[in-house]
Amino acid sequence: MIHDVIVVGSGPGGAVAATTLTQQGKSVLLVDRQTFPRDKVCGDGLPIHVMLMLREMGIDIERDGLEYQRVTGLTIEAPSGKALSTEEITDDAFSMTSPRLSFDNVLHQHAIKSGAQFEVMNVIKPLIDDKSKRVIGVIERRGKEQIEHEAKMVIAADGATSALARAMHGRTADPQAIAVSIRAYAYLKKPMPSCVYFYFTRDLLPGYAWIFPTAGNRCNIGVYLHNQDYKSRGADLEALLDEFSARMQREFPHEIDTPTRQTWSLPLYADRHSRSAPGLLFVGDAGGFVNALTGGGIYPAMMTGQAAGKIAAKILAGETSEAEYDVAWQRDVSGSLGRARLMQKHILSSAKIFNSVFALANLPILRGPMLRVMSGEHY
Ligand SMILES: Cc1cc2nc3c(=O)[nH]c(=O)nc-3n(C[C@H](O)[C@H](O)[C@H](O)COP(=O)(O)OP(=O)(O)OC[C@H]3O[C@@H](n4cnc5c(N)ncnc54)[C@H](O)[C@@H]3O)c2cc1C
Repeated sequence: MIHDVIVVGSGPGGAVAATTLTQQGKSVLLVDRQTFPRDKVCGDGLPIHVMLMLREMGIDIERDGLEYQRVTGLTIEAPSGKALSTEEITDDAFSMTSPRLSFDNVLHQHAIKSGAQFEVMNVIKPLIDDKSKRVIGVIERRGKEQIEHEAKMVIAADGATSALARAMHGRTADPQAIAVSIRAYAYLKKPMPSCVYFYFTRDLLPGYAWIFPTAGNRCNIGVYLHNQDYKSRGADLEALLDEFSARMQREFPHEIDTPTRQTWSLPLYADRHSRSAPGLLFVGDAGGFVNALTGGGIYPAMMTGQAAGKIAAKILAGETSEAEYDVAWQRDVSGSLGRARLMQKHILSSAKIFNSVFALANLPILRGPMLRVMSGEHY
C-alpha cells in the first residue's frame, strides 16, 4: 500500500504532524525506531502554548492520563548572582513540566487513536525517484536488509540525529548551531516550590543550569552548554552537573537517580534556510528548530509538525507546493527563534552585558516581559 504520508519519528513533532494529517482524512504511516512509551533526554519544561495546542488537538491531559506538575513561577539568576522571579497568572491553561516518558506517549497514542498506523522501523535514508529527484518514501534497515516503503510525501521528524537530514544535507553542520546538555532526575528530600529555576552562572554562559520540579516528588536537574565552548574548554558535563547539584542541596535537597543522568545534543535555530525538498518537509529537531537561548524545542517541534501536516495535506490535494511550508514556519516561528539567537549571541555571551541588561528588569514594568523573553517565548 502506498500511504499518503510517512512520518518518521513519533516525538512531539512527528506525533502532531501525524494527528494533523489523519484529522484531515489522510492515510499516515508513523514510524519510530523505538517502541512507546520511551524516554527522551530533556528538561521536560512545557510553556503554556503547549497546553493550548494539546487542547486544539483534542487532548485532555486529565482524561488522557498525562503525568505533570503545574508551574506557577519562574526564577532567573544572572551571573552577578542577582535573581528575579515572576509568578504565572492563574488560569485554566498553564505552563507545566511533564516527564517525556509520559508526555510523548500521550501524543503518540493520540496520533494512533486519530488513525495513524504505527510501525517500529529504523529509517536510514529517503527513497528518491531517479528521474524527478522527488522523495517518494523511505528506506528502512532491518538486519542486513534494506526495505523500501513508498509514500506520496515524507515528513522528517527524526530528531537531533536525523538520518533524513543527514542524507539530504537539510541541516547545516555549523558547530555554532549545536548545543549539548545533560539532565538527570532526582528524588526530592522535601517538596520544592512549583517554580522553574534557571542559573546563568559566569562559567556556563551562554549556557545555564536548571532545576525544575516534576511529577512524582522528583525534580529534573541539568546543564545546557554551547558545543564549541564546551569543546574548547574541555568541560566535563557530568562534573558540571555534580557541581550544580551540590550547590542546590541546601535550598532543594535531592538525590540524583544516577541511571537517568544522560547527555544529548540540540540542533539550534540559526537561520532561515529552506527546511523542505520535493516530497519532504523537516520538522522539530530534524529541521534545527531549537531555541538557542533556552534549548527549548518541544513547542517549536509541535508548531512545525502542525504546519507540515496542514501543508502536506494541501500538497496532496494539488493546491500548493513544499515552498509554502518554508513561508509558514518563517512567518510563525522564525521571529521568536531568531530573537533568541540574537540574544544568545550578543547578550548572553558576556557576563557584563547580561548583568547590565538584567539590571533593567528592576523596573517593575519591564520585569515580566524581560523574564519571559529570557526564559524564551517557547522555553
Ligand atoms: C537535556 C535536554 C533538555 C531539554 N529541555 C527542554 C525543555 O525543558 N523544554 C523544551 O521545550 N525542550 C527541551 N529540550 C529540547 C527537546 O527535547 C527537543 O527539541 C524535542 O524533543 C524535539 O522534538 P522532536 O519531535 O523534533 O524530536 P524527538 O523528541 O527527539 O523525537 C524524534 C523521534 O525520532 C525517532 N528517530 C530518530 N531517528 C530515527 C530513525 N532513524 N528512524 C526512525 N525513528 C527515528 C526517535 O526515536 C524519537 O522518538 C531539551 C533537550 C535536551 C537534550
